Amino acid sequence: MKRSIYTAEHEAFRAMIRDFIAKEVTPHFDRWEKDNLVDRDFFRKLAALGVMGFDIPEEYGGSGEISYKYQTIITEECARAAVSFGHYSVSTGIVLPYLLNLADEDQKKRWLPGIAAGDLMLCVAMSEPGTGSDLAGIRTSAKLSDDGTHYVLNGSKTFITGARNSELCVVAARTSPATPKDRRHGLSLFVVPTDADGFEYGRKLEKIGLRSSDTSELSFTDVKVPVENLLGEQDKGFSYLGQNLPRERLSISVGATANATAAIRFAQEYVSERHVFGQPVAAFQNT
Ligand SMILES: Cc1cc2nc3c(=O)[nH]c(=O)nc-3n(C[C@H](O)[C@H](O)[C@H](O)COP(=O)(O)OP(=O)(O)OC[C@H]3O[C@@H](n4cnc5c(N)ncnc54)[C@H](O)[C@@H]3O)c2cc1C
Repeated sequence: MKRSIYTAEHEAFRAMIRDFIAKEVTPHFDRWEKDNLVDRDFFRKLAALGVMGFDIPEEYGGSGEISYKYQTIITEECARAAVSFGHYSVSTGIVLPYLLNLADEDQKKRWLPGIAAGDLMLCVAMSEPGTGSDLAGIRTSAKLSDDGTHYVLNGSKTFITGARNSELCVVAARTSPATPKDRRHGLSLFVVPTDADGFEYGRKLEKIGLRSSDTSELSFTDVKVPVENLLGEQDKGFSYLGQNLPRERLSISVGATANATAAIRFAQEYVSERHVFGQPVAAFQNT
């Protein structure tokens, strides 16, 4: 079935990405998968293509608001070549929207240009050892200091994608107790530099797929987070997390469709190369 959703401009972008993958990704991909890490400088190469700044306003060094179709094309081309860009899609497609939607002017000036340049990569830390689907149960705490200048972050997170290749981590933490009527009250989001004192990496978890990015445990011990790094309003974090999930689900569904399409294509190519179940077609003809 021929798709009509892409224009000539999209197809030119696709050709550019396909060429980039062949030169800058495929030759290194086995090593990235082995290390669970892409070369850090690779994200700056992506930035030179303009794809780190999707949706970042031009005044902050980005490409401005842009159709999600361009990110879809990147996903499709990665699936076609059986590679991935590490945690690029998490940083750009899932975490960046938190900053675009919630950051104030000062925060946008501090972070968005570095993100568009590929110098600041992002991860998000919601899940905890005892808290996955049920985010209202988050136990990581952020306590405002007596002088009101910073929060003190304590707790641990697990399953955090791309943490080891990120400079900034959006952390969900409890700032106030839940109320009897609303378990979801009292969570807040913070932008935490991954090199802050007390921010530690734990185990890198083994996975059977998505191996070119790490999935890590994190722990926070008295991490000082300036009040200027609170995203949005204190205690409203749960609703912010909910507002961003549709975008995450869109990226997962695009990835699933692109990978299924690529799998069918690989199977067709395999058979057309006269192999069936790993045997040359001729071997079956002789039996
Ligand atoms: C590869 C990978 C990358 C990840 N990256 C990140 C990341 O970057 N940042 C981050 O914060 N987290 C990340 N996660 C964590 C992910 O968000 C959680 O795994 C997910 O929220 C589910 O939590 P859980 O694993 O604790 O499962 P649980 O919440 O314990 O759920 C286990 C099962 O029970 C079901 N279940 C749970 N509650 C209910 C209910 N009320 N009713 C019916 N069924 C229910 C679930 O559907 C699931 O099938 C990642 C996970 C993986 C595997």
